[in-house]
Amino acid sequence: MKKIRILPIHVGGTIASAASETGFRPKLSFADLLSRVDKKLAGDRLVAQAQAPFGELGIDSACLQIPHIQKIARAICESYDHYDAFIVTHGTDTLAYTASMLSFMLKGIQKPVVVTGAQRTLEDKDSDVIENLETALLAASTNNCGVWVAFNGKIIRAVRATKMDIGVDGLDAFVSNLRDEIQLSEFLLNDYAINKGHLEAFNTEASTAVDIFCLTHTTNPLWLSNYLQNSDLKALIVLIYGMSGHREDLIEVLSRWANDNEAFIIAKSHSVYGSTDLSKYELGVKALRMGILSSLDMTLESVYAKTSLLLARKIEHQEFTRQFYSNICGELDEPDVQKFAQKSNFWLSTA
Ligand code: GLU
Repeated sequence: MKKIRILPIHVGGTIASAASETGFRPKLSFADLLSRVDKKLAGDRLVAQAQAPFGELGIDSACLQIPHIQKIARAICESYDHYDAFIVTHGTDTLAYTASMLSFMLKGIQKPVVVTGAQRTLEDKDSDVIENLETALLAASTNNCGVWVAFNGKIIRAVRATKMDIGVDGLDAFVSNLRDEIQLSEFLLNDYAINKGHLEAFNTEASTAVDIFCLTHTTNPLWLSNYLQNSDLKALIVLIYGMSGHREDLIEVLSRWANDNEAFIIAKSHSVYGSTDLSKYELGVKALRMGILSSLDMTLESVYAKTSLLLARKIEHQEFTRQFYSNICGELDEPDVQKFAQKSNFWLSTA
């Protein structure tokens, strides 16, 4: 039987780290990791020499910026025809951002891309490095095309993955915001791909004119205004408590800036689970009427990735909004969008 050809892309993070005098830092190449994987599991596949776009040992993923993610995506696009699957070894801090962005950039992908990392280094007692790497290699050997996060024996659709645990006690770093994590044993047996037969439409263009800002009790409208006036942003994702919008003095500043600059304000709840739907509460409806967009059931990481990619397309304001509320790669629940559209259209028509 023909062996599956897998291209690893080694980014870094805890999975590649070991102790140093100044704290944990990336010290292991992908070859170092692969040499520890079960011999049969590794030997049953053709695992190519890893690409290491940020150096053989990789980097701390907290240092990644959008051009780094573009580099990872381009590495996949450029070698796409030569491999059957791809795995990305990555730090957990920004893993869900990279995985989400790859999902949008590699829209319709007909091969698996599996992103993994670790909570404990190879040297640690109870290290999860090898288990996670083996999970990724197994998941990448299935027919489940699309971008996935493999961690702690589970597989999560990348656009639904969020980091929930920074790993002092637990190994379960990631959850799906739909609570639909798939056990590896199930993933190996069943078909979970949602894009099988879709047209591949790869596009690695992304804008850096987007940021995330947390609105709290103490956020001062003047500081917020200064921050926005001194930025080159075209979109700001604001973290709000739930789905009620936020204080009117802050929403006014945000809305004015967005109108004056043809920019976008997108509200996302602090909560991982549930849909940020501004059409439910009076305060939220006020924000909606002032042009603030609702994240609905997208993860923060997906909203960030989607916004960056849509901004790069330089489309009209209305078309941006239309595409923002369209499901591109499984990040949005379509019935949820329909319900929101009906209610928000009602509120906007009665404004
Ligand atoms: N800060 C590091 C990173 O994200 C280590 C965290 C981790 O991998 O768990 O690369």
